[in-house]
This record gives sequence, structure tokens and C-alpha cells, in this order.
Amino acid sequence: MSQRDSRYDILFEPIQIGPVKMKNRFYVAPHADSFGMGKMDEMIAYRKARAEGGWGAVCTGETMIHETSDHAPFLCTRLSSDEFIEPMSRLTSAIHEKGALAGVELAHVGASCPSWSYREHPISPSAQFPRLYNNPIGARKMDKKDIADFRNWYVKAAKRAKQAGFDIIYAYCSHELSLLQDFLVPGTNKRTDEYGGIFENRLRLTREVLSDLKDAVGDTCAIAFRFAVENRSRPSSLNIQDEGRRVVESLAEIPDLWDVNVSDWAWDSGSSRYFEEGAQEPFVSFVKQVTKKPVVGVGRFTSPDAMVSQIKRGVLDIIGAARPSIADPFLPHKVDTGDIDSIRECIGCNICTAEVMNNTAIRCTQNPSVGEEHRKGWHPEYVPPAHDESKSILIIGGGPSGLEAALTLGKRGYQVSLVDGGEEWGGRLVKERRMPRLSAWGRVVDYRLELLQVMPNVQMYLASQLTADDVQEFEADHVIVATGSQWRGDGAGRSHSDPIQGWEQAHVHSPESILNGEMPEGDIVVYDDDYYYMASIIVDKLASAGRKVTYVTSATIPAPWTVNTLEFEHIVKSMKALGVEIITGAVISSIDASSVQLVDQLTEKTSEVAANNVVLVTGQLANDSLYYELQGKQDKNLITSLERIGDCISPALIAQSTHDGRLAGMNYGREDLEKK
Ligand code: ADP
Ligand code: SF4
Repeated sequence: MSQRDSRYDILFEPIQIGPVKMKNRFYVAPHADSFGMGKMDEMIAYRKARAEGGWGAVCTGETMIHETSDHAPFLCTRLSSDEFIEPMSRLTSAIHEKGALAGVELAHVGASCPSWSYREHPISPSAQFPRLYNNPIGARKMDKKDIADFRNWYVKAAKRAKQAGFDIIYAYCSHELSLLQDFLVPGTNKRTDEYGGIFENRLRLTREVLSDLKDAVGDTCAIAFRFAVENRSRPSSLNIQDEGRRVVESLAEIPDLWDVNVSDWAWDSGSSRYFEEGAQEPFVSFVKQVTKKPVVGVGRFTSPDAMVSQIKRGVLDIIGAARPSIADPFLPHKVDTGDIDSIRECIGCNICTAEVMNNTAIRCTQNPSVGEEHRKGWHPEYVPPAHDESKSILIIGGGPSGLEAALTLGKRGYQVSLVDGGEEWGGRLVKERRMPRLSAWGRVVDYRLELLQVMPNVQMYLASQLTADDVQEFEADHVIVATGSQWRGDGAGRSHSDPIQGWEQAHVHSPESILNGEMPEGDIVVYDDDYYYMASIIVDKLASAGRKVTYVTSATIPAPWTVNTLEFEHIVKSMKALGVEIITGAVISSIDASSVQLVDQLTEKTSEVAANNVVLVTGQLANDSLYYELQGKQDKNLITSLERIGDCISPALIAQSTHDGRLAGMNYGREDLEKK
């Protein structure tokens, strides 16, 4: 094992946080995992893997202090009653066992409570409509007794947290999802008593809660305050120019740890399409000048040099990470052992946030073991050894699924041959990483290539388009087909069961032609019946090159699936900034030489948009013909063992491809699993 580079030593200096000491500067910031209390074993295994990978502290996501704080259908942890102490203590034991501190983000979501599980009326400083799910249930104004109760709930939850073994206990005031934030912000606090009006009054409850927490558990636990210094999505809210800064100045030495960020979530966990590593620095850098207490912040930090720079330049004391810790739980360990080239860098795609938005367990594009630590027993780094190292495996296709399968099988010790017909590794990512704003996605390829290229038991062949006969001649013990998919160009998709009339004309393009570098001229209609990123990326490319683009979608909002990846707001703003006209809720009924005909989905009214060129982003088709030919050979016993993975099964997210690759790699030779 190699040694740590001395320039990273500062990242391994211990730091005192109130009464507790953290062994290094790597901190798993509170983040949702969508396991909730119903899947504690899964949640414990997930968090424990981060502690094992060397993070000095590992925090939970929002942990609710009371039934009036009910984020259902979002799945959260709870310390709202004594019954939750035991399961949460199993979590802290697992984190402690691996040498990390355990933090808990105690939260009350105030008016952001959809009230679906506990059926309690949401509470708020002043009556207001809840912000989530457009729920037709209003949040009621809290009276003095409610405020006293709220303080009491925080104290009781903190005592339960202490009993459960947590070292760091939070008060939560961020993401526009917090009752304390509702009190601070003039727009949501219209009170006229001592908790409303002037700044000090609006700050009063936060000050009281922090002091209550210190009194209740501060002897042995550090009190952290998670605070959004700036709200980028609601200009009327706090910002660093005035009250965001004033809050930090007023409470400066009260918390033991300042955990600072930018609201709302789409700005805190901004996708790499719109935010660089360290993008929050201009907003949070003042905090350390105002307080002597340690400051932690996030910024999708994956580079140890960027982390060192944050500390040396006095921006942060502690490097917080949600996504980089999801993508690589062993990031600190790799820095410590001088193995930084094998860091599995987060690509900023936000498939991990989509899991929260859809109330499913956490998952990750780069790290397929995420969420499967308990259920499938997958470890982020270690794989079971080969059952027989002489077995040869041929993988056809070097996209995300083929690369991940090769990596897993190579690590296990099998004789792996990875073959691709293209000139470059990466499959769909060869072209996609060159599209606007997607360069970080290339890390899916780079990380795997870096490791594969030095494995003596893995042979890699480019520019080798294989036929079924070639595969048969190879005589591999096992064949994995990972031949991917292609964008279709005929317009069939969600809204069109048949091709769109007029699609065969030369001025109608599939996404493949734009990915191949074609740049149509004139007025262009980009039609989105796919709903994720591809149409808006193509719009970006064409409009940035000066083309007049009209974006038409059959959906009621542009790129609706990107609400899950927190990109929706940024996509719409970017299209508007580029002068793109947006038409929603309309399908293309036909295309002629100079226009497209539209039908409004609700009114059935028809209209026409001028277009010299049209790009149809409607769906993909699996490249599965080789697989079916090989299946025919297998039926005649000419191929021993065969499976397919990734987009070749059905086109899907890159996260599905890396998952499929891992699954194939982990299951090969495991007869116990194959029988299931
Ligand atoms: P996935 O996301 O499932 O990994 P991709 O579309 O990204 O799928 O990658 C599929 C890869 O398979 C592409 O690089 C393509 O060049 C390669 N490929 C497809 N058919 C063949 C074939 N017959 N022989 C070799 N490589 C192939
Ligand atoms: Fe990063 Fe994407 Fe993984 Fe989230 S899903 S941690 S953004 S690579």
C-alpha cells in the first residue's frame, strides 16, 4: 500500500467540536437516504460503510422531532418518541464501531409537512399554505403554548439522541424545509408578538432552541447548527448581504459547529450541469471570519487538493460531503493511503436526489453498491473471489454496463476480455460527455478505465465489432452482451405508439445525428417526448450556437423528470436565457417541409410552428440483435453461458447500467444466487 501525500496531511488533523473530537476533516453531511425507520438494517449498513471508509463523522438525514413534522411520503428517520431510541442506537453503534462520530440532524419541517402519515395539522409561525405537494391543507399559526411545546420536543428528541449514542446533535434551519427558517424569514413570519417583526424577534426561537439543546445535552454532545446563509430560489428570503450574515454574527459562538449552505435543495445539491465543485464558496466564505467555532460546508468536493485549499484559505475547517461520500464511501481512506487515482468521483448527475423525490431507497450512478450494502451484501470496494480463476468471460460492449461488469469480474480474478466496436471506451458516454454541460459524466468511464487498464487478467480490445460467429469462435465460458441502445428517429415514444407522419424527411433528425456532431441550420423544433436530459441538452447545444430553437414537449412542464434531479428550475432558466421558445402540453401530429403541426393535449386545438429542421427526442431502442442471435446459438449448445445487461435489455439510466454490470459481475459463479 502506498503512502499518503504529505500535502494532504491537513485533512487528517483532528478537530475539537464542542465536547467531542473528530479524528479528521472528512464529514458525511446530513443527507436523505430514503430508508426511513422501516429499513433500519439497510440504513445502518449504508451509513456504516461510510464510517468504514474513513469519514470522521457520519450524520443521519432529517430526523423528525415530532408528529407535526411529517414528511411522508418522504421516508425519514425519527426521534419523536422513545420507541426510536433502540433502532437509532444500533446505527450509532455501527458508526462508532468503525471509528467515526455519529451526528443526527434533528428537524422540524414546519409548513413543509404534507401531513399524510400522522394526520396532524402542520404548524407555522403564521398561517400559510404548505409548500410541498400542493397539499390543500393549511399550516396553522402557532400560539405561545405551541412554541413552548416545540422547544420541549426539540429537547426531548435531543435527550433521546444522546441516549441513542449520538455525538453531534443538530438544530436544522435550511433548505426552506424548516420551522426555524420559517420563523427567521419575514415572508413566512407575520407575527406581531416577540417572535415576529424585527430581526431579533424572528431569531428568538432559534436562539432559544440552541440554548435549550446546550443545556439539555451539551455536556457530552456537540450542538451543530445547519443554516442556509442564502436562499437562491426565493429572492425574498434571507441572503448574505443582510440577514443571512446577521444570523451568523448574532449566534456566532453559540453552536459548537456551524454547518452552512445555500438554499433551496436545487442550489445546495446543484447538479454538475449547472454547478462546479466548490460552488458555494462565495456564499459561505464569510462565516469563518465571524465565528471561532468550526465551520463545515459542502460543494461536491471530490478532489483532495480542492479540500486542502478550502481549509488553507480559511473557507472551511471541515469538508462536508453528501454526494462525494455516496459515490465513494472510501474517499478518505484512498487519500490516506495515497490511492487518489482510484477515487470514484461523484459526477453530479443527482440520480441520488431522484431517489428521495420518488421515495425509493438511495442509489448512485457511480457507485452501484449504494443501497445494496445490506440487501445484496455489496461492499463499495471489496468483491468475493472468483470461484474458478481459469474461467474466461467475454463482455461485448464497453459502455457503463460493460465497463462495470469487467471491473467487478476483473477484481474477482476471472480472465476477462472486454471488446467494443468503437474507437473509444465509454459507449453512450463517448458522445454524451462531449455535449454541453455533461463533461463530468465522463468520470463514469475514466474511473473504470483507470483501474481496468492495469489489471493483468483483463484484456481490452477496441475497434472490434463482433458478430455472433466471432463470439462463438471465442469459446468463452461465459458471454455478457452489453451492446447498449440507439435513439430512434421516427418519433414513436410515450405519446406516439406509431412513427410521426413525415419523420422520414431529410430535415428530421434523431438525437444520434446531433450527438454525431450534425448542426442543423435555420429555425429548429426540438420535440421532447422523453422527459429527461437529452432534449434540453440538444436545445442547449443548438441555441448556444445561435440557432433559433422552439422546444416543444408533450409534458405539462419542460423536462419533467428533471424535477427529481433538481435540474428543472435551472434548465428552464437556461432555456429562457438562450431565447428558446417553450411550448408545453403539445404533441406533434405531422411534419412537413417547413413546419410542424401541433395538437394541444388538453384542448385538442391545432397549431403550426415554422421549422426548417426538427429533432425528435422520443425514445431509444435496445441493440439486442446480437444477443438474440447468440441465444439461438446457445439453444444449439454452441455457446456455453450467456446473459445481457444494461441498455441492451432496455434503454434506461446510466445508473441502471452500472447496477446491471455490478450484478452480473457479482453473481457469476455464485450458484446459490443463480438458482434464485
Ligand atoms: P450500456 O449503457 O448498457 O453500457 P452503451 O450504449 O453505453 O450501453 O454501450 C454499448 C457499447 O457496445 C457501445 O460502445 C457499442 O460500440 C458497443 N457495441 C455494440 N454492439 C457491438 C458489437 N457487436 N461488438 C462490439 N461492440 C459493440
Ligand atoms: Fe454523485 Fe450521481 Fe452518485 Fe449522486 S448519483 S452521488 S450525483 S454520481
